[in-house]
Amino acid sequence: MGDQGDRIQAEVLVVGGGVAGLTAALSARKRGARVLLVCKGSTGRSGNTPMAEGAIQACFQPDDDPGQHVRETLASGRNLGHRKLVAAMAERAPACVKELEDLGVEFRKEEDGSFFQYVSAGITARRSLWIMGGGPGLSLPLLRAAQNRGVNLVDDLMVTRLLTGTAGVAGACGINLRTGVFTVLEAGAVVLATGGNEVLYSLSDASLDSTGDGTALAWHAGAELLDMEFIQFFPHSLVHPESLRGVIIPEEVYFPEFGGGRLTDGTGAPFAHRYDPERGELTTRDVLARGILAEVAAGRGSARGGVFIDLRSCRREQLVEMIPALYRYLLANGVDVFAQPLEVAPSAHYQCGGIRINERAETCIGGLFAAGECTGGIDGANRLASNALAEGVSFGTIAGENAACYAFARERPDQDPAQAGLERARIAEVMDRRHDAGLDVLEVKRELQAMMSDQVGLVRCSTGLVEALVGLEKIRDDMLGRMALQHRGGRYNLELMEYLELCNLVDNARMVASAALARRESRGCHFRSDFPEEDDAAWRRNLVITNRDEQVVITGVGIPVCDGGPL
Ligand SMILES: Cc1cc2nc3c(=O)[nH]c(=O)nc-3n(C[C@H](O)[C@H](O)[C@H](O)COP(=O)(O)OP(=O)(O)OC[C@H]3O[C@@H](n4cnc5c(N)ncnc54)[C@H](O)[C@@H]3O)c2cc1C
Repeated sequence: MGDQGDRIQAEVLVVGGGVAGLTAALSARKRGARVLLVCKGSTGRSGNTPMAEGAIQACFQPDDDPGQHVRETLASGRNLGHRKLVAAMAERAPACVKELEDLGVEFRKEEDGSFFQYVSAGITARRSLWIMGGGPGLSLPLLRAAQNRGVNLVDDLMVTRLLTGTAGVAGACGINLRTGVFTVLEAGAVVLATGGNEVLYSLSDASLDSTGDGTALAWHAGAELLDMEFIQFFPHSLVHPESLRGVIIPEEVYFPEFGGGRLTDGTGAPFAHRYDPERGELTTRDVLARGILAEVAAGRGSARGGVFIDLRSCRREQLVEMIPALYRYLLANGVDVFAQPLEVAPSAHYQCGGIRINERAETCIGGLFAAGECTGGIDGANRLASNALAEGVSFGTIAGENAACYAFARERPDQDPAQAGLERARIAEVMDRRHDAGLDVLEVKRELQAMMSDQVGLVRCSTGLVEALVGLEKIRDDMLGRMALQHRGGRYNLELMEYLELCNLVDNARMVASAALARRESRGCHFRSDFPEEDDAAWRRNLVITNRDEQVVITGVGIPVCDGGPL
């Protein structure tokens, strides 16, 4: 680490360079704020946004409306979502889509120039739009707009702690990975847009930097978190070949217009209708993922513990037109989706819960806002397909607006300098450890992932969850302190970054496992084999997580009563 710390000032600090961070930055900038966006990777090219297939929900069809969008989102979340937040997303989404178009994002269109829209899994209306070029088709135009409109973009800067003062959050600090210099960021308002925590699991289809940093940062700073037990698994990602592990095969392959791909067991027999007789493969993701697991448990799986997707009878041209990038990518890696069945298994895909916000994207800490996948309250117990990008753009915009207003109304933030000093010392201490006596960061990470996959994955029970919590305490209290880095150089010390991310993963794992143990029912993507039924009377409530002396504290709270209205 460099001797002299750096200091950067802004009115609004945005942490994260995905769809939520970029829209937040653009929206705060539009209101005239001086905006600094920091990203631990490359803005527009990191996180889950560039990995997205490109489906986004917004109501444009005459037989659809935001009320219907709200009802379907709440139903998919098994009624744990907060109506006001969901309504804010549904009402904003169409205007946000138009704004994205103005910024250069291209959508698939009908011949008459209207948006092409289709019915996604679990949705009744034609509401999903398709972004041409998938995730990069969204993130790169947003990046260009941020560059052109004067957002101060700093890549390769990992935020490791939020800094507070007498009136709430007053900035953040972290490490500039390019230079190795500890950096203090001063801001009147902070927006966390750091994405999900899917790296908690051995098989994940998410970006490798999805390590739950924002949820950990917020938890350390005293914010509340919500619904952390709900981790959505995508039903089918490739498990073979090894080099393509985690690449998802989207649900669209089952659409009748493409010839209807089928999910088959190890013998080639279709099985999805056993788990949802009406919708079959087009059921919700949790039902399909558990169906796959049940097939494997019953001995009907593939050699590598998965099942198969058979696209051999699909209409080649139409399907390729729908998934051109994926098709080309798989082909370039030796897999022709029309030539052989694809071996797949469920993978960690999306963090449904997260930082608790209200409909203005405010957290319970003054000056701290959050948006996108790191937040909770919209998806409830299970996210509806194509809602994540809608949530990212609408709440990114809302967070940016309100953060700018907050920063304008505030006097210069007063940071407590001792906090940055403590964080700087924490990082320096890790760098100074003798590596010959220490544990390896990657090994411990793999141990954590295996524990989470086995005991806090798709199917959970009290014995496994208690065991996982004991194991996690051991990692936190014993192993983290005994880990040492092989690389001591300051510049691009990715091992240091992995260590800091691992600390965040451990905090996230403790939150997920504690909430999963507390919720003694099954709901949405949280399934307890010892409590297999949904229990509205006892559990139609959110679990709120706070930090008391570094312990995960859980309180059950009722769903906010809706104030009525036309929805
Ligand atoms: C394979 C895949 C396909 C998907 N397809 C779709 C789809 O078609 N439609 C849909 O609606 N959703 C889809 N999703 C989900 C959706 O892509 C994500 O939920 C969404 O993009 C998240 O956006 P975000 O801005 O909240 O976070 P991200 O896009 O994940 O961005 C987080 C950013 O924060 C940065 N960051 C993290 N921690 C720090 C830190 N400590 N300091 C500084 N920077 C930090 C990261 O580097 C990154 O830039 C898909 C997800 C996956 C994995």
